[in-house]
Amino acid sequence: MEPIQQTDAYLKVVDVGKKFGKFTALEGVSFKARRGEFLSVLGPSGCGKTTVLRIVAGLETQTSGKVFIEDRDVSHLPVSKRNVGIVFQSYALFPNLTAVQNIAYGLRSRREDSKKVTQRVGELIELVGLGGMENKHPAQLSGGQQQRVALARAMALSPDLLLLDEPLSALDAKVRIMLRSEIRQLQQRLGVTTIMVTHDQEEALTMADRILVMNQGGLVQNGTPLDIYDRPATPFVAAFIGSMNFIDNAIKIDRGVYGIGDRRLAVAPENGAGKIEKGQKVRIAIRPEDIVIRDGLHGERNTISTRVESMEYRGPLFRLALRFDVDAAASAIIEADVPTEKIRRLNIREQIELSVQLPLDRLHVYRRPGQVDRAP
Ligand code: ATP
Repeated sequence: MEPIQQTDAYLKVVDVGKKFGKFTALEGVSFKARRGEFLSVLGPSGCGKTTVLRIVAGLETQTSGKVFIEDRDVSHLPVSKRNVGIVFQSYALFPNLTAVQNIAYGLRSRREDSKKVTQRVGELIELVGLGGMENKHPAQLSGGQQQRVALARAMALSPDLLLLDEPLSALDAKVRIMLRSEIRQLQQRLGVTTIMVTHDQEEALTMADRILVMNQGGLVQNGTPLDIYDRPATPFVAAFIGSMNFIDNAIKIDRGVYGIGDRRLAVAPENGAGKIEKGQKVRIAIRPEDIVIRDGLHGERNTISTRVESMEYRGPLFRLALRFDVDAAASAIIEADVPTEKIRRLNIREQIELSVQLPLDRLHVYRRPGQVDRAP
Protein backbone atom coordinates (compact mmCIF):
# COMPACT_ATOMS: atom_id res chain seq x y z
CA MET A 1 0.00 0.00 0.00
CA GLU A 2 1.20 3.53 -0.73
CA PRO A 3 2.60 5.53 2.16
CA ILE A 4 0.10 8.04 3.47
CA GLN A 5 2.55 10.92 4.01
CA GLN A 6 2.71 11.99 0.36
CA THR A 7 0.96 15.31 0.09
CA ASP A 8 -0.42 15.38 -3.43
CA ALA A 9 -3.56 13.94 -1.89
CA TYR A 10 -6.78 15.91 -1.83
CA LEU A 11 -8.28 13.63 0.80
CA LYS A 12 -6.39 11.68 3.41
CA VAL A 13 -7.91 9.19 5.79
CA VAL A 14 -5.35 8.24 8.41
CA ASP A 15 -5.62 5.20 10.64
CA VAL A 16 -9.34 5.58 11.18
CA GLY A 17 -11.16 3.30 13.61
CA LYS A 18 -14.80 3.22 14.59
CA LYS A 19 -16.54 1.41 17.40
CA PHE A 20 -20.26 1.16 17.92
CA GLY A 21 -20.38 0.29 21.63
CA LYS A 22 -18.17 -2.76 21.95
CA PHE A 23 -18.39 -3.62 18.26
CA THR A 24 -15.41 -2.63 16.13
CA ALA A 25 -16.78 -1.56 12.75
CA LEU A 26 -13.48 -0.15 11.41
CA GLU A 27 -9.87 -0.58 12.35
CA GLY A 28 -6.73 1.07 10.98
CA VAL A 29 -8.28 2.33 7.75
CA SER A 30 -5.85 4.57 5.82
CA PHE A 31 -6.05 5.77 2.24
CA LYS A 32 -5.85 8.89 0.16
CA ALA A 33 -7.44 10.30 -2.96
CA ARG A 34 -5.81 12.62 -5.45
CA ARG A 35 -7.80 15.56 -6.73
CA GLY A 36 -10.16 14.37 -9.44
CA GLU A 37 -9.65 10.72 -8.66
CA PHE A 38 -12.54 8.24 -8.61
CA LEU A 39 -12.19 5.74 -5.78
CA SER A 40 -14.49 2.86 -5.17
CA VAL A 41 -14.84 1.19 -1.79
CA LEU A 42 -15.77 -2.42 -2.46
CA GLY A 43 -16.56 -5.22 -0.05
CA PRO A 44 -19.18 -7.62 1.24
CA SER A 45 -22.19 -6.56 3.27
CA GLY A 46 -21.32 -5.32 6.74
CA CYS A 47 -17.58 -4.84 6.09
CA GLY A 48 -17.75 -1.13 6.97
CA LYS A 49 -17.93 0.59 3.55
CA THR A 50 -20.78 2.92 4.43
CA THR A 51 -19.19 3.75 7.76
CA VAL A 52 -16.02 4.87 5.93
CA LEU A 53 -18.08 7.09 3.62
CA ARG A 54 -20.10 8.56 6.49
CA ILE A 55 -16.90 9.38 8.37
CA VAL A 56 -15.43 11.11 5.30
CA ALA A 57 -18.71 13.03 4.90
CA GLY A 58 -18.82 14.06 8.56
CA LEU A 59 -22.10 12.22 9.17
CA GLU A 60 -20.35 9.96 11.65
CA THR A 61 -17.39 10.66 13.93
CA GLN A 62 -14.48 8.24 14.00
CA THR A 63 -13.40 6.75 17.33
CA SER A 64 -9.73 7.10 16.38
CA GLY A 65 -7.67 8.44 13.49
CA LYS A 66 -8.04 11.54 11.35
CA VAL A 67 -9.49 12.85 8.12
CA PHE A 68 -7.71 15.58 6.14
CA ILE A 69 -9.01 17.55 3.18
CA GLU A 70 -6.24 19.46 1.43
CA ASP A 71 -4.01 18.92 4.46
CA ARG A 72 -6.59 20.55 6.75
CA ASP A 73 -7.72 18.38 9.65
CA VAL A 74 -11.50 18.10 9.20
CA SER A 75 -11.89 15.18 11.60
CA HIS A 76 -14.37 17.05 13.74
CA LEU A 77 -16.03 19.35 11.21
CA PRO A 78 -19.76 18.78 10.61
CA VAL A 79 -20.96 17.72 7.16
CA SER A 80 -22.11 21.28 6.37
CA LYS A 81 -18.52 22.54 6.61
CA ARG A 82 -16.86 19.91 4.40
CA ASN A 83 -18.18 20.94 0.98
CA VAL A 84 -19.27 17.42 0.04
CA GLY A 85 -22.10 16.30 -2.22
CA ILE A 86 -23.74 13.02 -1.25
CA VAL A 87 -25.91 10.61 -3.23
CA PHE A 88 -27.54 7.71 -1.42
CA GLN A 89 -28.97 4.47 -2.72
CA SER A 90 -32.50 5.55 -1.80
CA TYR A 91 -32.67 8.77 -3.78
CA ALA A 92 -33.90 10.67 -0.71
CA LEU A 93 -35.65 13.30 -2.84
CA PHE A 94 -38.37 15.55 -1.44
CA PRO A 95 -41.57 13.92 -2.76
CA ASN A 96 -43.56 17.15 -2.76
CA LEU A 97 -41.01 19.08 -4.84
CA THR A 98 -40.46 18.90 -8.60
CA ALA A 99 -37.14 17.83 -10.15
CA VAL A 100 -36.10 21.45 -10.53
CA GLN A 101 -37.12 22.34 -6.98
CA ASN A 102 -35.25 19.36 -5.60
CA ILE A 103 -32.09 20.33 -7.45
CA ALA A 104 -32.45 23.99 -6.42
CA TYR A 105 -33.08 23.19 -2.76
CA GLY A 106 -29.53 23.62 -1.49
CA LEU A 107 -28.95 26.78 -3.54
CA ARG A 108 -32.16 28.37 -2.32
CA SER A 109 -31.46 27.57 1.30
CA ARG A 110 -28.20 29.43 0.81
CA ARG A 111 -30.31 32.40 -0.33
CA GLU A 112 -28.55 32.58 -3.68
CA ASP A 113 -29.82 35.09 -6.24
CA SER A 114 -32.93 33.68 -7.93
CA LYS A 115 -31.72 34.31 -11.51
CA LYS A 116 -28.45 32.57 -10.76
CA VAL A 117 -30.26 29.63 -9.23
CA THR A 118 -32.44 29.23 -12.33
CA GLN A 119 -29.39 29.37 -14.58
CA ARG A 120 -27.41 26.90 -12.47
CA VAL A 121 -30.33 24.46 -12.24
CA GLY A 122 -30.76 24.68 -16.01
CA GLU A 123 -27.10 23.72 -16.46
CA LEU A 124 -27.45 20.82 -14.05
CA ILE A 125 -30.60 19.52 -15.76
CA GLU A 126 -28.64 19.57 -19.01
CA LEU A 127 -25.62 17.93 -17.38
CA VAL A 128 -27.55 14.90 -16.12
CA GLY A 129 -29.77 14.63 -19.21
CA LEU A 130 -33.11 15.48 -17.61
CA GLY A 131 -34.39 17.95 -20.22
CA GLY A 132 -38.22 17.80 -20.32
CA MET A 133 -38.50 16.39 -16.80
CA GLU A 134 -38.07 19.71 -15.00
CA ASN A 135 -41.54 19.95 -13.51
CA LYS A 136 -42.17 16.32 -12.66
CA HIS A 137 -42.40 15.11 -9.09
CA PRO A 138 -40.25 12.14 -7.95
CA ALA A 139 -43.24 9.75 -8.11
CA GLN A 140 -43.61 10.60 -11.83
CA LEU A 141 -39.97 9.76 -12.57
CA SER A 142 -38.30 6.38 -13.13
CA GLY A 143 -35.66 5.13 -10.69
CA GLY A 144 -32.89 6.14 -13.09
CA GLN A 145 -34.34 9.62 -13.53
CA GLN A 146 -34.74 10.05 -9.78
CA GLN A 147 -31.11 9.11 -9.30
CA ARG A 148 -30.12 11.72 -11.91
CA VAL A 149 -32.05 14.32 -9.92
CA ALA A 150 -30.22 13.18 -6.77
CA LEU A 151 -26.91 13.48 -8.62
CA ALA A 152 -27.72 16.96 -9.93
CA ARG A 153 -28.79 18.01 -6.44
CA ALA A 154 -25.51 16.72 -5.01
CA MET A 155 -23.57 18.66 -7.66
CA ALA A 156 -25.58 21.88 -7.29
CA LEU A 157 -23.29 23.45 -4.73
CA SER A 158 -20.16 22.50 -6.74
CA PRO A 159 -18.79 20.21 -4.06
CA ASP A 160 -15.08 19.42 -3.97
CA LEU A 161 -15.86 15.89 -2.97
CA LEU A 162 -18.66 13.71 -4.30
CA LEU A 163 -19.69 10.74 -2.14
CA LEU A 164 -21.85 8.04 -3.67
CA ASP A 165 -23.32 5.32 -1.47
CA GLU A 166 -24.50 2.40 -3.64
CA PRO A 167 -26.03 4.94 -6.05
CA LEU A 168 -27.05 2.36 -8.64
CA SER A 169 -28.08 -0.66 -6.61
CA ALA A 170 -31.81 0.13 -6.61
CA LEU A 171 -31.92 0.33 -10.41
CA ASP A 172 -32.53 -2.43 -12.92
CA ALA A 173 -29.58 -3.89 -14.80
CA LYS A 174 -29.85 -1.93 -18.07
CA VAL A 175 -30.30 1.47 -16.41
CA ARG A 176 -27.47 0.65 -14.05
CA ILE A 177 -25.06 0.00 -16.89
CA MET A 178 -26.07 3.17 -18.69
CA LEU A 179 -25.80 5.34 -15.57
CA ARG A 180 -22.42 3.79 -14.74
CA SER A 181 -20.81 5.29 -17.79
CA GLU A 182 -22.78 8.52 -17.52
CA ILE A 183 -21.67 9.10 -13.94
CA ARG A 184 -18.09 8.27 -14.87
CA GLN A 185 -18.13 10.72 -17.80
CA LEU A 186 -19.72 13.42 -15.69
CA GLN A 187 -17.18 12.88 -12.94
CA GLN A 188 -14.31 13.15 -15.41
CA ARG A 189 -15.73 16.23 -17.09
CA LEU A 190 -16.16 18.02 -13.78
CA GLY A 191 -12.95 16.63 -12.31
CA VAL A 192 -14.61 16.18 -8.93
CA THR A 193 -12.89 13.85 -6.49
CA THR A 194 -15.31 10.99 -5.95
CA ILE A 195 -15.71 8.08 -3.57
CA MET A 196 -18.30 5.46 -4.38
CA VAL A 197 -19.32 2.65 -2.08
CA THR A 198 -20.48 -0.50 -3.78
CA HIS A 199 -20.73 -4.22 -3.22
CA ASP A 200 -20.85 -4.76 -6.99
CA GLN A 201 -17.44 -5.72 -8.34
CA GLU A 202 -18.33 -4.94 -11.93
CA GLU A 203 -19.37 -1.44 -10.96
CA ALA A 204 -16.09 -0.87 -9.16
CA LEU A 205 -13.99 -2.38 -11.96
CA THR A 206 -15.65 -0.35 -14.71
CA MET A 207 -15.98 3.02 -12.97
CA ALA A 208 -13.11 3.54 -10.57
CA ASP A 209 -9.52 4.72 -11.03
CA ARG A 210 -8.67 2.88 -7.85
CA ILE A 211 -10.46 0.30 -5.74
CA LEU A 212 -10.22 -0.07 -1.98
CA VAL A 213 -11.22 -3.61 -1.08
CA MET A 214 -12.53 -3.99 2.46
CA ASN A 215 -13.26 -6.98 4.64
CA GLN A 216 -14.32 -7.13 8.26
CA GLY A 217 -13.66 -3.49 9.06
CA GLY A 218 -10.22 -3.33 7.44
CA LEU A 219 -8.71 -2.39 4.11
CA VAL A 220 -7.40 -5.49 2.34
CA GLN A 221 -6.08 -4.04 -0.90
CA ASN A 222 -5.75 -0.63 -2.52
CA GLY A 223 -5.01 -0.64 -6.24
CA THR A 224 -6.15 0.00 -9.79
CA PRO A 225 -8.88 -2.31 -11.12
CA LEU A 226 -6.19 -4.14 -13.11
CA ASP A 227 -3.97 -4.59 -10.06
CA ILE A 228 -6.79 -5.88 -7.96
CA TYR A 229 -7.96 -8.37 -10.57
CA ASP A 230 -4.55 -9.48 -11.79
CA ARG A 231 -2.65 -9.45 -8.53
CA PRO A 232 -5.10 -10.03 -5.70
CA ALA A 233 -3.21 -9.50 -2.44
CA THR A 234 -5.02 -12.16 -0.45
CA PRO A 235 -7.23 -15.19 -1.09
CA PHE A 236 -10.19 -13.10 0.07
CA VAL A 237 -9.65 -10.51 -2.68
CA ALA A 238 -8.97 -13.26 -5.19
CA ALA A 239 -12.25 -14.98 -4.43
CA PHE A 240 -14.34 -11.83 -3.93
CA ILE A 241 -13.48 -10.28 -7.28
CA GLY A 242 -14.03 -12.62 -10.19
CA SER A 243 -13.65 -16.39 -9.73
CA MET A 244 -10.54 -18.14 -8.50
CA ASN A 245 -9.49 -21.78 -8.19
CA PHE A 246 -7.46 -22.64 -5.13
CA ILE A 247 -5.25 -25.71 -5.03
CA ASP A 248 -4.37 -26.44 -1.42
CA ASN A 249 -1.60 -28.67 -0.11
CA ALA A 250 1.00 -27.43 -2.50
CA ILE A 251 4.57 -27.06 -1.20
CA LYS A 252 7.36 -24.74 -2.13
CA ILE A 253 10.20 -26.80 -3.57
CA ASP A 254 12.51 -24.07 -4.79
CA ARG A 255 12.44 -20.52 -6.05
CA GLY A 256 9.53 -20.39 -8.54
CA VAL A 257 8.91 -24.15 -8.24
CA TYR A 258 6.02 -25.66 -6.32
CA GLY A 259 4.97 -29.26 -5.81
CA ILE A 260 1.50 -30.78 -5.88
CA GLY A 261 2.07 -34.44 -5.04
CA ASP A 262 4.76 -35.57 -7.49
CA ARG A 263 3.87 -32.85 -9.95
CA ARG A 264 6.03 -29.74 -10.31
CA LEU A 265 4.60 -26.35 -11.25
CA ALA A 266 6.65 -23.35 -12.28
CA VAL A 267 5.38 -20.00 -11.00
CA ALA A 268 6.61 -16.57 -12.05
CA PRO A 269 8.60 -15.42 -8.99
CA GLU A 270 6.77 -12.11 -8.55
CA ASN A 271 3.46 -13.93 -8.12
CA GLY A 272 4.40 -15.20 -4.68
CA ALA A 273 2.67 -13.50 -1.74
CA GLY A 274 5.54 -12.36 0.48
CA LYS A 275 8.44 -14.48 1.54
CA ILE A 276 7.83 -18.19 1.44
CA GLU A 277 10.40 -20.68 2.74
CA LYS A 278 11.29 -23.91 0.96
CA GLY A 279 9.13 -26.74 2.28
CA GLN A 280 6.36 -24.37 3.36
CA LYS A 281 2.76 -25.24 2.53
CA VAL A 282 1.04 -22.88 0.12
CA ARG A 283 -2.20 -22.42 -1.79
CA ILE A 284 -1.81 -22.06 -5.51
CA ALA A 285 -4.51 -20.12 -7.30
CA ILE A 286 -5.55 -19.53 -10.91
CA ARG A 287 -8.57 -17.88 -12.51
CA PRO A 288 -10.83 -20.13 -14.63
CA GLU A 289 -10.25 -18.00 -17.73
CA ASP A 290 -6.47 -18.32 -17.38
CA ILE A 291 -6.40 -22.08 -17.79
CA VAL A 292 -5.17 -22.92 -21.30
CA ILE A 293 -6.77 -25.65 -23.34
CA ARG A 294 -5.52 -26.44 -26.83
CA ASP A 295 -4.36 -29.31 -28.98
CA GLY A 296 -0.91 -30.79 -28.49
CA LEU A 297 -0.36 -29.90 -24.85
CA HIS A 298 1.09 -33.23 -23.75
CA GLY A 299 4.39 -32.94 -21.95
CA GLU A 300 4.55 -29.14 -21.98
CA ARG A 301 5.47 -27.27 -18.84
CA ASN A 302 2.73 -26.90 -16.18
CA THR A 303 0.42 -29.26 -17.99
CA ILE A 304 -1.87 -31.54 -16.00
CA SER A 305 -4.12 -34.36 -17.11
CA THR A 306 -7.72 -34.00 -16.07
CA ARG A 307 -11.09 -35.57 -16.68
CA VAL A 308 -14.04 -33.37 -17.64
CA GLU A 309 -16.45 -34.00 -14.81
CA SER A 310 -19.16 -31.55 -15.83
CA MET A 311 -19.81 -28.70 -18.26
CA GLU A 312 -22.01 -25.70 -17.59
CA TYR A 313 -23.20 -23.68 -20.57
CA ARG A 314 -22.94 -19.91 -20.06
CA GLY A 315 -23.60 -18.60 -23.57
CA PRO A 316 -20.26 -17.32 -24.88
CA LEU A 317 -18.37 -19.86 -22.79
CA PHE A 318 -18.62 -23.11 -20.92
CA ARG A 319 -17.42 -23.54 -17.37
CA LEU A 320 -15.77 -26.94 -17.07
CA ALA A 321 -15.23 -28.80 -13.81
CA LEU A 322 -11.97 -30.71 -14.29
CA ARG A 323 -10.87 -33.43 -11.91
CA PHE A 324 -7.19 -34.23 -11.51
CA ASP A 325 -5.16 -36.43 -9.18
CA VAL A 326 -3.32 -34.50 -6.50
CA ASP A 327 -1.47 -37.64 -5.36
CA ALA A 328 -2.13 -41.38 -5.17
CA ALA A 329 -4.80 -40.85 -2.51
CA ALA A 330 -6.59 -37.64 -3.38
CA SER A 331 -8.07 -35.77 -6.30
CA ALA A 332 -9.30 -32.20 -6.68
CA ILE A 333 -11.38 -30.11 -9.05
CA ILE A 334 -10.45 -26.95 -10.89
CA GLU A 335 -12.81 -24.93 -13.02
CA ALA A 336 -11.90 -23.61 -16.45
CA ASP A 337 -13.80 -21.13 -18.64
CA VAL A 338 -13.55 -22.12 -22.27
CA PRO A 339 -15.07 -20.22 -25.23
CA THR A 340 -18.02 -22.08 -26.72
CA GLU A 341 -16.39 -22.00 -30.14
CA LYS A 342 -13.34 -23.84 -28.78
CA ILE A 343 -15.51 -26.44 -27.05
CA ARG A 344 -17.06 -27.24 -30.42
CA ARG A 345 -13.79 -27.13 -32.35
CA LEU A 346 -11.96 -29.45 -29.95
CA ASN A 347 -15.06 -31.59 -29.45
CA ILE A 348 -14.84 -31.37 -25.67
CA ARG A 349 -17.42 -33.49 -23.87
CA GLU A 350 -18.11 -34.70 -20.36
CA GLN A 351 -15.96 -37.59 -19.13
CA ILE A 352 -13.19 -37.20 -21.70
CA GLU A 353 -9.54 -36.87 -20.69
CA LEU A 354 -8.25 -33.35 -21.20
CA SER A 355 -4.77 -31.92 -20.77
CA VAL A 356 -4.75 -28.36 -19.54
CA GLN A 357 -1.96 -25.90 -18.95
CA LEU A 358 -1.62 -23.61 -15.94
CA PRO A 359 0.57 -20.80 -17.37
CA LEU A 360 3.31 -19.87 -14.92
CA ASP A 361 2.59 -16.14 -15.12
CA ARG A 362 -1.10 -16.68 -14.33
CA LEU A 363 -0.53 -18.64 -11.12
CA HIS A 364 -0.72 -16.98 -7.72
CA VAL A 365 0.77 -18.30 -4.52
CA TYR A 366 -0.62 -17.65 -1.03
CA ARG A 367 0.83 -18.72 2.27
CA ARG A 368 -0.83 -21.41 4.33
CA PRO A 369 -2.26 -21.93 6.76
CA GLY A 370 -4.47 -18.88 7.05
CA GLN A 371 -2.67 -16.03 5.35
CA VAL A 372 -3.88 -12.92 7.16
CA ASP A 373 -6.62 -11.38 5.13
CA ARG A 374 -5.66 -7.81 5.87
CA ALA A 375 -3.08 -5.65 4.21
CA PRO A 376 0.22 -5.59 6.12
P1 ATP B 1 -23.78 -2.92 3.46
O1 ATP B 1 -23.13 -3.24 2.14
O2 ATP B 1 -24.63 -4.05 3.96
O3 ATP B 1 -24.44 -1.59 3.50
P2 ATP B 1 -21.41 -1.86 4.77
O4 ATP B 1 -20.15 -2.50 4.35
O5 ATP B 1 -21.73 -0.53 4.21
O6 ATP B 1 -22.58 -2.89 4.55
P3 ATP B 1 -21.61 -0.58 7.34
O7 ATP B 1 -22.99 -0.03 7.13
O8 ATP B 1 -20.49 0.35 7.26
O9 ATP B 1 -21.36 -1.79 6.35
O10 ATP B 1 -21.58 -1.32 8.74
C1 ATP B 1 -20.44 -1.97 9.24
C2 ATP B 1 -20.78 -2.68 10.52
O11 ATP B 1 -21.09 -1.72 11.55
C3 ATP B 1 -22.01 -3.57 10.42
O12 ATP B 1 -21.77 -4.76 11.13
C4 ATP B 1 -23.10 -2.76 11.03
O13 ATP B 1 -24.08 -3.61 11.60
C5 ATP B 1 -22.37 -1.95 12.06
N1 ATP B 1 -23.02 -0.64 12.26
C6 ATP B 1 -23.15 0.33 11.33
N2 ATP B 1 -23.77 1.42 11.85
C7 ATP B 1 -24.04 1.12 13.14
C8 ATP B 1 -24.67 1.82 14.23
N3 ATP B 1 -25.11 3.07 14.07
N4 ATP B 1 -24.76 1.19 15.40
C9 ATP B 1 -24.29 -0.06 15.58
N5 ATP B 1 -23.67 -0.79 14.61
C10 ATP B 1 -23.56 -0.21 13.41
